[in-house]
Amino acid sequence: MIYLDYQATTPVAPEVAKAMQPWIEEKFANPHSPSRSGNEAEAAIEVARKRVEEAIGLKGGSVAFTGSATEALNWALKGTVEKAAASGKPGRNRIITLATEHAAVLDSCEWLAGHDIDLTILPVQPDGRLDLDLLARELDKRVLLVAVMQVNNEIGVTQPISEIAKMAHDAGALVLSDAVQALGRMEICKGPDLVAVSAHKIHGPKAIGALWMRKGAEPAPFIHGGGQERGLRSGTLSPALCVGFGAAAKLADERQTRDYDHVQKLWRAATHALGPGWTINGSTAHRYHGNLNIRREHVDGARLIADLRDIAFSLGSACASGSGRPSHVLRALGLDYRQSRSSIRIGFGRYTSLKDLVDACHRIAAHAKAQEKLDA
Ligand code: PLP
Repeated sequence: MIYLDYQATTPVAPEVAKAMQPWIEEKFANPHSPSRSGNEAEAAIEVARKRVEEAIGLKGGSVAFTGSATEALNWALKGTVEKAAASGKPGRNRIITLATEHAAVLDSCEWLAGHDIDLTILPVQPDGRLDLDLLARELDKRVLLVAVMQVNNEIGVTQPISEIAKMAHDAGALVLSDAVQALGRMEICKGPDLVAVSAHKIHGPKAIGALWMRKGAEPAPFIHGGGQERGLRSGTLSPALCVGFGAAAKLADERQTRDYDHVQKLWRAATHALGPGWTINGSTAHRYHGNLNIRREHVDGARLIADLRDIAFSLGSACASGSGRPSHVLRALGLDYRQSRSSIRIGFGRYTSLKDLVDACHRIAAHAKAQEKLDA
């Protein structure tokens, strides 16, 4: 199996598995218990928290662990609305987001729109980037929150988060950035008040995410109970998952330049190996190069994936693939139904070998040409 679906999830790093092992096999104490073993677990969690904060690299805030980035994004959106409503600033009841955001943001925003929030979903330009003049025209004193992701999971296109944050702050709004696909791959943009990340996209374990919160911008609690995470997010933390996330974050921080250079090399090799006839979906200049989302006329992406079962690549996003619906991101770029269906996403990174990627691209290109002939 050649694994080329790095945006869906990443292989767990051996260093991460090793760091987690004692917390799965021997050390089972509740990290919130006052016993010695409880204190030891709590200390390990605090080391992990520092590592995640360092990998995020923003100043003036701290991280709370969550069950996923999906939870962090739900919490950030719904908790910020609740806090504003409770703080006697009901004038601010508008959220601005983009048509290309992850479902965790779009669906939470739609839910809020059903609960008296005025929702504006901005379109993107054909290259997937936000037009900042459009944002400037939309920002007014009713805007509570602007939610924009740093790196798109389907097409890899980056948004100018720091500029967006400055504009939003000038209008008195808060900023949430989904940095799930950015963490460990590039510097996290300065400026947002809330940042969501996920361990399994940086070679860590699944089912743990985090929300970085600028001091003073913490959302109202979303999950109520034992008052863990400074009363902001209740529930017993898993030392194994936190330690795994911390180890993955430390490793990603240490290896960022090396991983980035490797990805640049892989991108050049993959685009060369695929040969002519392919169009890259989204900007090539403003992009994370470990995400190669491409289309080709007469290709049926789903058939290509079914034909090449020993290569794990995707139709755009794991969620879009599962639903059978054409991707909302590709539609937002202006692609029609046929163009969306002829798109595939090849995702690679730290553990992808040049040889495997080139072999896979040669085979994908050969199958695509065969489909073209059949179609003609
Ligand atoms: N945001 C982006 C950009 C993602 O790619 C993902 C994962 O697919 C998520 C949010 C959700 O992350 P999690 O799997 O931790 O819920």
